[in-house]
Amino acid sequence: MDLRPTPDQDALRAECRAWLRANLPWEYGKGLPPHFDDLADEVAFLRGWQASLAAGGWVGVTWPPAYGGRGAGALSHYIVQEELARARAPELVGRIGINLVGPTLLAHGTPDQQARWLPQILSAEALWCQLFSEPGAGSDLAALSTRAVRDDAGGWRLSGQKVWTSYAQFADWGLVLARTNPDAPKNKGITAFAIDMHQPGVDVRPLRQITDEFDFNEVFFDDAVVPDDQRIGAVDDGWRVSSSTLTHERGTNPRQLVIHAQLLEELLRLAIDQGRYDDERTQQRLAEAYVEVRLFQLHNWRSLSKIEAGKPLGPEGSALKLYWSEMSKRLHDTAMAVLGDASPLWWHAEGNPGDGRWQRSWLYYHAASVFAGTNEIQRNIIGERVLGLPREPRPA
Ligand SMILES: Cc1cc2nc3c(=O)[nH]c(=O)nc-3n(C[C@H](O)[C@H](O)[C@H](O)COP(=O)(O)OP(=O)(O)OC[C@H]3O[C@@H](n4cnc5c(N)ncnc54)[C@H](O)[C@@H]3O)c2cc1C
Repeated sequence: MDLRPTPDQDALRAECRAWLRANLPWEYGKGLPPHFDDLADEVAFLRGWQASLAAGGWVGVTWPPAYGGRGAGALSHYIVQEELARARAPELVGRIGINLVGPTLLAHGTPDQQARWLPQILSAEALWCQLFSEPGAGSDLAALSTRAVRDDAGGWRLSGQKVWTSYAQFADWGLVLARTNPDAPKNKGITAFAIDMHQPGVDVRPLRQITDEFDFNEVFFDDAVVPDDQRIGAVDDGWRVSSSTLTHERGTNPRQLVIHAQLLEELLRLAIDQGRYDDERTQQRLAEAYVEVRLFQLHNWRSLSKIEAGKPLGPEGSALKLYWSEMSKRLHDTAMAVLGDASPLWWHAEGNPGDGRWQRSWLYYHAASVFAGTNEIQRNIIGERVLGLPREPRPA
């Protein structure tokens, strides 16, 4: 593992930082993105921000230049993500399109589909959502029951229900998995489609979360029409298509690394402000948080070296996801302990140190052990594929 940046990598970092200093809509290194009470206002602001970032060439840097990318490698992507997080740039509103749908279309889409959808993803002109999970199919995704049936015009009719669909209420398009052959074994009769989220037969109902926000939705399909030219990959081959999407959900995580490095800094400041820095037990927990964030950095670097050397990441992606999500919970628990009596206060409460940002963050990061594959599932993968333990008993 060679950790020294090349001159090209140094130049890319400097160029990205200079661009951010000149174009960030808040003060670089000091300010924070504006806070919106209404999620729709936030999404509108973030679409504008992503369009500006894409015009500067800082979105989808690993994508082919023909679709707005730089054709760069994983390390360049890592550097750009680090710089964005360092500038306190919020997560990209089109991240599902950029991180999941785009790579899936690049791997399985036809040239016409790539030309039709890819350019709009980077600029946030079109937002996408991921319509995989269902009430009866989460970890066991192959159990999904949304159906797609051929219609007389050679297209498809879609019926069923999805759930936990992030940002579906703002999405223009969705990548949906549906069962096309109920007689085939579970994971053999599934097909992937792109669906227009604004068409009749698609009903999106937001769900309120513990943070009092509405990122999630239920999505109902009632005989929704999907033309055959919106099928991604071959009929009944959707499982392979979905594997491409899901491998992009894990892997290295530069953004979470920098976010947690920043949280750590804020945590140390909070401990000082709260007069808890000299408390012996708090000191031990702060030290633990410090060591863990550093270990997360080293895990990331090791995975990145492997990717740059052209080696597949394999089950290491599971170890990284498991590690950072558990680390995050411990770090947030320490913040709550430092806040002491103020920890149950919500953000607008008077006398609340930090305006309740820690409380919101503590609640939010509980989701990290569920999304991108639950931590129990990651443990199964590590147990079976890394440690060689006996396979989990599966139904015949
Ligand atoms: C913040 C967030 C955003 C999300 N966004 C999207 C999205 O945009 N699109 C989308 O399609 N989905 C999305 N999801 C859904 C997510 O993929 C699922 O929640 C996840 O796959 C788990 O499925 P489930 O919730 O149905 O839980 P289940 O699979 O029902 O699991 C319930 C519990 O049982 C455990 N369990 C299940 N199977 C096993 C096993 N074999 N061994 C041991 N333990 C097991 C699980 O770990 C879990 O603790 C999102 C989830 C979150 C939290």
